[in-house]
Amino acid sequence: MERLQKVMAKAGVASRRKSEEIIKAGRVKVNNKVVTELGTKVDPSKDNIEVDGEAITKEKLVYILLNKPKNCITTADDPKGRQTVLDIINIKQRVYPVGRLDYDTEGLLLLTNDGEVAYGLTHPSHQVSKKYLATVQGVPNDAKLKALERGIQLSDGWTAPAKAELVVEFNDKSIVSLEIHEGRKHQVKRMCKSVGHPVLELKRIKMGPLELDEDLKVGTYRFLNKAEINKLK
Ligand code: URA
Repeated sequence: MERLQKVMAKAGVASRRKSEEIIKAGRVKVNNKVVTELGTKVDPSKDNIEVDGEAITKEKLVYILLNKPKNCITTADDPKGRQTVLDIINIKQRVYPVGRLDYDTEGLLLLTNDGEVAYGLTHPSHQVSKKYLATVQGVPNDAKLKALERGIQLSDGWTAPAKAELVVEFNDKSIVSLEIHEGRKHQVKRMCKSVGHPVLELKRIKMGPLELDEDLKVGTYRFLNKAEINKLK
């Protein structure tokens, strides 16, 4: 943490003295709040500092692909004290999960501080594809798979066309791959349940251009490479 006027001077806003005057004049905002206190300490890699409405520190943009474990919640903090995805990520920048996975769902989750990329991937009008592997009770026949593809009537309306394939069957269970372009709450679980095959386990393996690496262990993460970042923009 550093004093605000020092950070301003380093960013080339004005000398330290002049920066103090600018602060006292109420022209500086830290994380959207006007700050007039001269002793204010800030973290330039995390805090958003604006002078006359213009950002002076450009936070480094980071893009993290997490293989989310089960028993982990996709929010910044949990009133019940459960593990959150942010507890796993150990970096300086403040990042946010892009979309959600259920507490008991595993797999690909992107976290970033790039608001534009997050918006592009989650806005419903962009219909970004998400592919899941669902371990379900029983083995869906062709008619059920077709129904999943054509659309299912859920309590919040019909689902959009999807892709559904039987990957493997074993005993009285099977793995179905399901690719959808929406992001309704518990969507995959509700779709599978409504065709009579409740989900026992769920894992996301793709989101837009991103794919979960087979060798990325559950509960670990990596940074996206340049080519992946470019595909998101
Ligand atoms: N669909 C679900 O039911 N759960 C998830 O976590 C993601 C998609």
